Amino acid sequence: MIRLIFRATFGLAALGLSVSALAAEPANTGFDDKFRQLEEMLPTPTTIRTASGAPGAAYWQQRADYRIRATLDESRRTLTGLETITYHNNSPDALSYLWVQLDQNIYKPNSDARMTSTVPSREAWANAKDADAGLKFEGLRSTLAGPAFEGGFNIGAVKDGSGRPLHYVINRTMMRIDLPQPLKAGGRVAFSIEWNYKINEQKVLGGRAGYEQFDDKNDLFEIAQWFPRMAAYYDTYGWQHKQFLGSGEFTLEFGDYDVQITVPADHIVASTGELQNPGDVLTATQRDRLRQAKTAKTPVIIVTQLEAEAAEKVRSTASKTWHFKAKNVRDFAFASSRKFIWDAQGFKKDSTDVMAMSYYPKEGNPLWEKYSTQAIIHTIDQYNKYSFDYPYPTAISVNGPVGGMEYPMISFNGPRPVKDKKTGAITYSKRSKYGLIGVVIHEVGHNYFPMIVNSDERQWTWMDEGLNSFVQYLAEQAWEENYPQSRGEPRAITSYMRSRDQVPIMTNSESVVQFGFNAYAKPTTALIVLRETVLGRELFDFAFREYAQRWKFKRPTPSDFFRTMEDASGTDLDWFWRGWFYTIDNVDVSIDGITEMNVSTKNPDVEKAWQRAQRDAQPVSITDQRNKGTPRRVDAHPELKDFYNANDDFTVTNKDRNKYNESVGELEDWQKALLAQGKHLYLVDFSNIGGLVTPLVLEVTLASGKKTIERIPAEVWRYNSKKITKLIVTDEPMTGLTQDPYWETADTDTSNNSWPRKVMPSRVELFKSRPAGGEDMMSDYNTKLKPAGEKPAE
Ligand SMILES: [Zn+2]
Repeated sequence: MIRLIFRATFGLAALGLSVSALAAEPANTGFDDKFRQLEEMLPTPTTIRTASGAPGAAYWQQRADYRIRATLDESRRTLTGLETITYHNNSPDALSYLWVQLDQNIYKPNSDARMTSTVPSREAWANAKDADAGLKFEGLRSTLAGPAFEGGFNIGAVKDGSGRPLHYVINRTMMRIDLPQPLKAGGRVAFSIEWNYKINEQKVLGGRAGYEQFDDKNDLFEIAQWFPRMAAYYDTYGWQHKQFLGSGEFTLEFGDYDVQITVPADHIVASTGELQNPGDVLTATQRDRLRQAKTAKTPVIIVTQLEAEAAEKVRSTASKTWHFKAKNVRDFAFASSRKFIWDAQGFKKDSTDVMAMSYYPKEGNPLWEKYSTQAIIHTIDQYNKYSFDYPYPTAISVNGPVGGMEYPMISFNGPRPVKDKKTGAITYSKRSKYGLIGVVIHEVGHNYFPMIVNSDERQWTWMDEGLNSFVQYLAEQAWEENYPQSRGEPRAITSYMRSRDQVPIMTNSESVVQFGFNAYAKPTTALIVLRETVLGRELFDFAFREYAQRWKFKRPTPSDFFRTMEDASGTDLDWFWRGWFYTIDNVDVSIDGITEMNVSTKNPDVEKAWQRAQRDAQPVSITDQRNKGTPRRVDAHPELKDFYNANDDFTVTNKDRNKYNESVGELEDWQKALLAQGKHLYLVDFSNIGGLVTPLVLEVTLASGKKTIERIPAEVWRYNSKKITKLIVTDEPMTGLTQDPYWETADTDTSNNSWPRKVMPSRVELFKSRPAGGEDMMSDYNTKLKPAGEKPAE
């Protein structure tokens, strides 16, 4: 046992020396400095983006204002528009051409998105073990319908402010407009584009917008990426004109919008912005209900289900034009249908003054009337706490074909109850209920990230999805106790963190594999670990809010986030960003071994008795066990025994005692006191198997049953990121030690977290063996034929 060897060398005079030796750097082979600074990877700070992570004195961004007139042709399912863009060049650069995004071109039969799509492997479909892995009816329908659909923009005239045609070139989902003269720094240019396109059937072709056809033959249109939009131009990237392949979303400039939408006269339109002409498009009753809703305590119905059901039964041939204006938004979307039920409730708090509104077909009830608008207000109330006051006048949730998608002031959300085809009974699953509340929180939450904190979505999905999913997690916690959250909790990410099919979070959107885990769940968990385990809530919340405040209505990059979190919390977090965002390491700390040490008293009567007890505690050798009862010569001839037969090596001599008394006399009082303290010293070896450095959270169990928690910062790994030894001092013997007792660090293997090791309870299912002989074709052949179409008994 190590303790014996240790006591032999751990003498009185050496006490101080030995303790300092423990604190020295342990030997470190294959050094990998997980704490080296990120400057080698982050862009050099500038006066545009400072080293503290804030926008600098020279910060600039472009601006694009839009004036759009559009008409929805319901029967042909097309949208036709004319827009004028006024582009403000706030950059210090002269621009000889402008890039415009044509997102609808993803629906062209030969789009890059279509041509570059792959399946996981040849085996994936052939050997699919369940429906999730295999080819589905919907999948094959979509694959076949895609090339047959004549989607994409038809671009008509492109003209300058004086009506002269401008030269342009279309590169798949991007269009370059060549300017006759370069647009100087500080200048602006206005130009117009005529366009039209066929709207996709969302349930067949997918997408972030589209129409849905109902059994009653009415359509519900959710319209987005519907007009040519300015590509972003900014300091660290230049033009962001990476092609739209489907995953990387939209990188856009802020501006003011003036939009007129012409739709069938019996449609209700939900839209980004504020309605300018309620007198033209709403009834007096609807306007009156809207006024009541402004100060109501619960949602007020503006269009009732009965009114919507009546509207479904007729089709107006007339049209109406809805006029909306929106200030300082980066995009614009709308929805239109005669099927819409509409409810609304005002919410006013601090500088927020918003009308929360939900639009849904009867198929959404009873879920939607109960939860949607309430969830919008809850989102704004919660997100305001962690970022900034919601600045827009409306916040909308629309139920339609799109499962969940965000735009400024408006979001499209999918969950609905189900109707039993036979009985007509309407029920909903727990998953649909919390799926609806969760998706409304998520999509309305996107107003903050990235609609206002305007990160480059085409480049970094985590900057909007990750940050937003994190605040969504906090908002869901505030909805009800034990809210069934699908992501966030560190323990929920561990199987992904262990998996091989991974790329770092800092990977371009289009190259991300395991999208939900990589771009949503992992950054969410990282921020929860940062908040609860690394920084603590006070430091974290201040820093996170500072980031949101600094970058609202501006465009942050990853380094601006990393630097602001460090700058405002006063903590070097480079190790954290490096591990969680730039690698696929995981947290797996193992307690490898523990040595108990007690300071030697040097008193020979105490020490030799202790040494004897240690010897006696050793197992009896197998030879000695089997020799028991063997006749011995000294037993037959007792005269052979002497002093050494009566005394063992641990007998205390007077010489020992004299030496002890002399040395005690030489001790200083503080040295005597230290000897008398009776502390228990434990040397604990930890190894970092997962590679990701982590704070240690140690739960120490003492002999009396008392438990204490020690929180040790991640810097404990700075000299050696693979193996460390830590000294733990206790007042009474330690009987147990657990690393990460609350599963807060995302440790991927908790079986090595405890000393002594814990037995892991589990269950194994027993299965019957398959009958020998396989299928009986002879018997199947003789089975009586049933009439075609007869349904199996349920
Ligand atoms: Zn999202």
